[in-house]
Amino acid sequence: MGRRSPRSQTMDYRRTVNLPQTPFPQRAGLATSEPLRLARWLDEDLYGQQLARRADAPRYELHDGPPYSNGDIHIGHALNKILKDIITRYRDLAGYRAPYRPGWDNHGLPIEYAVSQALAAEGRELDTLSLRRACRTYAQRWVDVQREQFKRLGIRGDWDHPYLTMAPEFEAGILESFATLAKAGYIYRGERIVQWAPSLRTALADAEIEYRDKVSPSIYVPFAVTQPSAALADLDALHVVIWTTTPWTIPANLAIAVRADIDYRVVEVEGRHYVLADYLADALGAKFGWAEPRRVRVVAGAELAGTVTQHPLYDRPSPVVLADYVSLEEGTGCVHTAPGHGKDDFETGRKYGLPAYCPVDEDGKFTAEAGERLAGRFVLKANDEVAGMLAEVGALLAREAITHQYPHDWRAHEPIIFRATTQWFLNIDHDLGDQTHRERALAAIDAVAWHPPEGRERIAAMVAGRPDWCVSRQRAWGMGIPAFYCPCGATILEARALDSVVEVVREHGSDAWFELPPEQLLPAGYTCPECGGPADALTKETDVLDVWFDSGSTHQCCYSKDELPVELYVEGSDQHRGWFNSSLMVSVGLDGRAPYEAVLTHGFTLDSDGRKMSKSLGNTVDPQNVVAQMGADVLRLWVASVDYSQDQRIGDEILARVADTYRGLRNSLRFLLGNLHDFDPATDSVPEAELGGLDRYLLHGLEQTKRIVTQAYEEFNFHQVVYHLHLFALEASATYLDVAKDELYCGLPWGRPRRAIQTVLYALCSELTRLLAPILCFTADEAWELLPGTASASVHLSDFPAPRPERRIDPETLYELGWLIETRDMVKAAQEAYNAGRAKGERLNPLEMAVTLTAPPEQLAVLERWADEIRALFVVSAVELRAGDSLAATIAPATGQRCARSWRIFPDAEFGHVPGHETLSDRDGAVVAALAERGLLPAD
Ligand SMILES: [Zn+2]
Repeated sequence: MGRRSPRSQTMDYRRTVNLPQTPFPQRAGLATSEPLRLARWLDEDLYGQQLARRADAPRYELHDGPPYSNGDIHIGHALNKILKDIITRYRDLAGYRAPYRPGWDNHGLPIEYAVSQALAAEGRELDTLSLRRACRTYAQRWVDVQREQFKRLGIRGDWDHPYLTMAPEFEAGILESFATLAKAGYIYRGERIVQWAPSLRTALADAEIEYRDKVSPSIYVPFAVTQPSAALADLDALHVVIWTTTPWTIPANLAIAVRADIDYRVVEVEGRHYVLADYLADALGAKFGWAEPRRVRVVAGAELAGTVTQHPLYDRPSPVVLADYVSLEEGTGCVHTAPGHGKDDFETGRKYGLPAYCPVDEDGKFTAEAGERLAGRFVLKANDEVAGMLAEVGALLAREAITHQYPHDWRAHEPIIFRATTQWFLNIDHDLGDQTHRERALAAIDAVAWHPPEGRERIAAMVAGRPDWCVSRQRAWGMGIPAFYCPCGATILEARALDSVVEVVREHGSDAWFELPPEQLLPAGYTCPECGGPADALTKETDVLDVWFDSGSTHQCCYSKDELPVELYVEGSDQHRGWFNSSLMVSVGLDGRAPYEAVLTHGFTLDSDGRKMSKSLGNTVDPQNVVAQMGADVLRLWVASVDYSQDQRIGDEILARVADTYRGLRNSLRFLLGNLHDFDPATDSVPEAELGGLDRYLLHGLEQTKRIVTQAYEEFNFHQVVYHLHLFALEASATYLDVAKDELYCGLPWGRPRRAIQTVLYALCSELTRLLAPILCFTADEAWELLPGTASASVHLSDFPAPRPERRIDPETLYELGWLIETRDMVKAAQEAYNAGRAKGERLNPLEMAVTLTAPPEQLAVLERWADEIRALFVVSAVELRAGDSLAATIAPATGQRCARSWRIFPDAEFGHVPGHETLSDRDGAVVAALAERGLLPAD
C-alpha cells in the first residue's frame, strides 16, 4: 500500500486548514443573552422602527384580548401572547404594518375580592370610593409586573402605551358604547334569577359556585284543586301532589308544572283523589303508606293544563302549567314552581305571565309578604317551620331527608339560594326593523373567517341560544351604570343624562360617578323627564357594568370607526362564550358587524400526563422558570411546535425534546456562520445559475421548504413551520454540509469551488434566519448580527425571504440527484459491512476507502453524468464506476498517499509535486503555496 506517514518536518499543516470560526456560541446561554438583547431592542425602539419602515404598507392589526391584571402570568398567558407575537412578527417581516398594542382588563370581582380580603385581614373595611382606589392601585401593580413578564418572552409591542380598561379615556369609551346602545333602545331593566350568597349579600357567577353534599328535607305536598280541567271535571276532593327539597320556597309557589307527553294517574285513597305521574305512582303510593289505592284513570299531562289548585298556606291560586323539563327521575312528575327562586321556574313563569315572586330579602330572610310566622327568619333554617305549617293544614303526604349535591359559595362555603333580582339587560332580540339584533349577530358571524372552522358553529350556537345579556353587577370595582332614579318612580337612562355622565367620566375617571352628586353629573338645570323634579332629588344607580361589557367594548375604545374591523382576534377557545361573544354583541349593536375579520383560537395547556394544571396538584409549569432555565426562545419554540388548536401538554421531558430541536437548529446556524466568516456576498458570490448539481439541489430544497413554511405561517400552522425547518436543517446537514467540508476547510479559500459552496451556505443562513425569526426571535437576531453583508442591523428589520422560482430545477435532474443521494445509503451500508468483518486495527474510516460502483448501462450513464459530485457526496477518497448487471458498491482501501493536510488519500499522480510541500496532495500543496504567496500562512 506504500502509505507515507503524514508527518511534516517543516510545518504544522493543521493550522492552514480553514476551520469554521464564529463568535456564535454552541452553548446558547439564552437566560443571560436574551435580557441583554431585549434591553437593546427597547433602547433602540426596535418596535417603533419596525412600524416606521412600514408606515405606508397595508395594515395587519391583531387586537389583543386583555388578560386580567391579577397575579403572575401563567403558561396559558405565555402561549397566548407568544402565538400573537409569532403572527405579528411574521406579518411585519412579510411587508405589513403590524402594530401590537397590548391591553389589560382591570375592573371586576377577583381584584375587588383580593383587595377586600387583604383589608379584612388588617381588620379594615373601606367605603366604596376608597375600596375602588385600592383596587386601582392593586390593578396597576399587576399590570407593571405582567408587562415585564410578557416583555421577557420577547413579545414585541407598544409596551409604553398599553390600553387599560381602567384608564379614564378608556372608561369614557366603555360608557359611551353603553350609552349609545341605551339610546338605541338595547338596554332594559328586568328581573332575573341569580345565584345569591346570603352571607355575602351578593350574586355569584357560575365560576364562584362549588357543589358540595348537603342533607335537605324532601317533602311531598298535595295541592287541592279548585278548578279541574275537562278531563278531571267529574272528580271531587282532587289534589295534585308536588315534591320539593327546598320547603322554604313553598311560600313562593305560584304554579305546578307537568309535561304534556307524560301520563298521569288519578288514584283514589280514602275518598280523596290524587294526581301524580303514572310511572311513579306505585312507588309513591308505598312511600305514602296508601292501602289499596284505586286507579281511577290515566290522562296525558296536556289534559291537566287548565286545572287550578289552591296554595295550601296562602289564599291564592296555583295553576297547572306545561313545561318540557319535567322528568320522571325523581319526585312526582308534578313540579313545584316558584318563579322567583329558580331559573326554569322563572322561564315558565314568564311564559304564563306569572311574576318572579320572591318574598326573601338580600340577607336570605323572609319578608313580611311570607306571613307573620315566617317573616324575618333565615330561609335555609325555616325548612322545618314550613313543613310543620304544611302538616298542620293536612298538606304533607311524606317527609324524608336526602343527601344531594347542592351549590355553595366558593368563599364562605355556605349553601346559596336562587333569588329573583332586578338587573340591567342588553336585549339580544332587540328589534331593528328588518331583523333582530340576534339575527344580525348571526349574519355577522358568517362573514368572519374562523380558525379552526369549528369555531363558527360553536359561537353561532351560543349566540342563537343565549339569553339576554345581564350587564349589571352588585359590586364596587367597575364602571357605574349611568342611570338615575326619581322619587316619582321614573328610571332615567336617556341621551342628555348619558352624554353628560360620559363627559364627566372622560375628564375625571369613573370614580366621579361614585363621588359626585347627581346634579354635578347632569347638565345644569337638568330635571326629571317625567315629573320635572330637580336633579338633586334623584338617586344614582349603585350597580356596576359586567366586566365583560368593558372588554367587549375594547375595539370601540382602541380604534376609530374606519379602523374597524381589525384583521384578527386570537384567544383560547373558551372565548367563543366570552370575549368573542361580548365583542360581537357590542360591535353588532354599534356598527352592524363583527369587530374582527378573522378569529383564531387555541386550546389549553395541560401537564405532561394530560391533566389540568392546578396549584393544588402541584403540576403547574411556570413560564418564568422555563425562561430563567432554558430561555424564552425554547418556550417560544415549544409554543410553535405544539398543535395549539387542541389542548397541548408541557413538562420537563417535553421541554427537553424541544431544547434538543433548538440545539439542532442552533448548530445548523452555527455551522453556516462558521463557514461564512471570510465571505462577502457582494463580491464573493457565484451566480446561482453557475452552481453545481448538489448546490442547486440544496437551493431547490430551500425553495421548497420556504414555500411550505410561508404557507404554514399564512395559515397559522406553526408546528408545520418548525417541523419543515428542522427537517430541512437535518437533511441539509446530512446531504450537503458533510459533503462540503473538504472543500470548505482545505480548498483554496478564495477559489471558485469554495465560493460556490459559501454562496449556498449564505443563502441558507440568510433565509433560514429570517424564516425562524418570528419564532426564535432572539436566536435569529443573534445569528443575523453575525451574518456578513446584511442590509439591516436586526433580522427584525429585514424582509421575509421572497420566492426565487429560478432556483427550481427540472424534474429529471431533480430525480437523478435524489437518486444519487439514495445511492449514498447503499455505499454507507457497504462501508459498514466492510468494517464489520474486520479487527479493530484493520477497519478504515471513509476517507481511507475507495468505492467501486457497478451499475447497469442506464444507471451508469447517470452516475457518469454526475461523476464530479459523487466522490464528495460519498465522502470517500476515490470512486470508480464500472458497468455491471446490477447496482452494487464494493469497498477497498484507497491506494495512493495520505495528504498531511486534508487527510484524504490521493493517487500518486496527484501527490507530492508542489515543491516544499511533498507530504501534501497537489491540491493541498497548491493551496498552502498560494496562502504563502499572499502572506496568509499563520506564524508558528
Ligand atoms: Zn320624576
